[in-house]
This record gives sequence, C-alpha cells and structure tokens, in this order.
Amino acid sequence: MIIDGKEMAARLRAEYKLRVEALAGRGVRPGLAVVMAGDNPASKVYVANKIKACGQIGLHSEVHEFPSDVVSKAVLARIRRLNADPAIHGIIVQLPLPAHLDARRILESIEWKKDVDGFHHYNVGALVIGNTVFPPCTPYAVQTLLAHSGIPVEGRNVVVVGASNVVGKPLALMLLAEGATVAICHIKTRDLAQFTILADILVVAAGKPNLITGPMVRTGAVVIDVGINRLPDGRLVGDVDFEAVRAKASHITPVPGGVGPMTVTMLLGNTLSAAERDAPGEALAGAVARIGEND
Ligand code: NAD
Repeated sequence: MIIDGKEMAARLRAEYKLRVEALAGRGVRPGLAVVMAGDNPASKVYVANKIKACGQIGLHSEVHEFPSDVVSKAVLARIRRLNADPAIHGIIVQLPLPAHLDARRILESIEWKKDVDGFHHYNVGALVIGNTVFPPCTPYAVQTLLAHSGIPVEGRNVVVVGASNVVGKPLALMLLAEGATVAICHIKTRDLAQFTILADILVVAAGKPNLITGPMVRTGAVVIDVGINRLPDGRLVGDVDFEAVRAKASHITPVPGGVGPMTVTMLLGNTLSAAERDAPGEALAGAVARIGEND
C-alpha cells in the first residue's frame, strides 16, 4: 500500500481550518514568522510553500528576509522583536543560514513557547524526557503518517537510517516513547543491511538516492522515505529504490507526495497549538495543553 501523504495532509489541513475558525471566534488569528538569510534557492522554495500553506488555512504569516552578508546582531534583534509580538505565535529560522552566522545562537534566541520547529535546547530537552512541547515537524510527520495509516509502533522493531538533530535523532526518541525498539544507523554504521533487514518499520533520512535496495528490506515491512534528492536529470527521488522495495513492503511512502507535504502540515499544527494555548476562553480539544505544564 502506498501511503498518500498529500491526501492525508489535505485532510488534516481541513481540520486545522476549523480550528482556525474557532480561534477567530475567540479573537485570535494564529501567526507564523519565518526568518531567512541569503539566497539559497531550495530555502526560497520551502519558505514559499510554508507561506502558501498558512494562507490556505487562514493563518497570518510573515517572512523576514535578510541579505547573505547580514550580521548576527540584526537577526537577533529581529527575533527579539518577534518574541514580543502578540500577533506572532510561532517563529522559525529557515536553515541553512549563511556560514558566518551562529545558527545555534540564533535558534536559542527564539522564545521557546514560540519555537514551533522544536529546535530550541529547552524543547529538545523536553522531548528527551517525554514532555514534548513542539514535536519537530519532520519526525512529527512520520509519526502522524504511521498513526493515520493504522500502523502500530509499540513493541515493533524500528530502524532509523540517519541521525541528524532535525530528523533521525528526535524521531528515534519519539518512537521509543511510543514503545518501539529503536536502532539508529548513520554514515559510520558497518553493514547497514544487517540492521535494516530486522526492521518492522524502516525510516530512511540520509539524503542518498537508492541507499535502500530491495534485499535490504524484510517482506511486509513498513518503509517511510524521508529523503529528498534531486537527480542530474531533474527528477526528485527519495533514499529508497521505490520500485524494488515497494514489491516487498506492506506500506511505503512515495517521494514526492509522502513525508514532504505532511512536514509543512505539522508546522501549521504546531503554530495552531501555540495560538490555542494563548487564546482567552476555553481550551479546544486538540490544543497542546501540556505546554502550560512546562511553564
Ligand atoms: P543530514 O545530512 O543532516 O543527516 C543525514 C544523516 O544520514 C546523517 O546522520 C548521516 O550519518 C546519515 N547518512 C548519510 N549517508 C548515509 C549512508 N550512506 N548510510 C547511512 N547513513 C547515512 O540530513 P537531514 O537534514 O537529516 O535530512 C536527511 C534527508 O531528508 C535529506 O535528503 C533531506 O533533504 C530530507 N529531508 C526531508 C524532509 C521532508 O519534509 N520530507 C525534511 C527534512 C529533511
């Protein structure tokens, strides 16, 4: 079965739209600010997608763009202003930043209650101990794809290929919290196949086309392909040899149309949750009430 991330994202966005309307009744319009610097063409496409998605469900959004030679002070000052702006409930910094900027320092300057990407140290720490405030969007997308496809995680063998701070590591922790037995593989892993073959659920986020071939996957496994790679002929592919693996897997996500559309959707969801927490009146079902517990 092919897991259709596009269709799932559309359904979730329709639900989010209702939550936005309910918030309007309480006098609140959720707002997302995107901070970006430099001329990275991929970043421009990603930011445009995020802004478009905000518009589709009625979120306010703004882009704060800086030239490639911007100094840290200017970016930090802008984030300080956004932290204090009541119209803004979520702030993200589009990565990568130009190399001369200290990305970590800039991420840490975001007020953690507005850190809807979940990259602030506070939010990373909360996730580690299972008190997640804002689940990072790509791992959250994978978790939601599994849940909405009716795939149980508890007690299953999960292998995550890729150990980055934005995808592999937080995802492994989130699935561990759901009761999976998790192995994390990375570039230094010897004989990747000896791990992948054991996976009931295999998640691949390495950024290498055709890294996962048919023989590396157990018959009946669930395969989630997070990778996005542009081939020299212009085609967009994941990290999995889709045709070969599809013949063995019980479920598989395509690229494009799998994890990608869900990632942007999760960003909308986190921004909504931040606004719901702040809104006056009764909390809605689905609001991230647990945010308050971390105050
Ligand atoms: P990254 O470069 O920060 O990390 C890649 C990880 O994969 C590292 O831990 C590395 O050790 C591991 N790796 C690389 N080559 C490997 C190999 N041959 N064998 C085993 N492990 C290997 O990348 P990232 O930011 O985590 O992104 C990973 C991929 O996911 C990229 O293709 C990226 O474009 C994609 N991505 C997609 C989405 C989405 O929404 N679909 C979001 C974020 C990232």
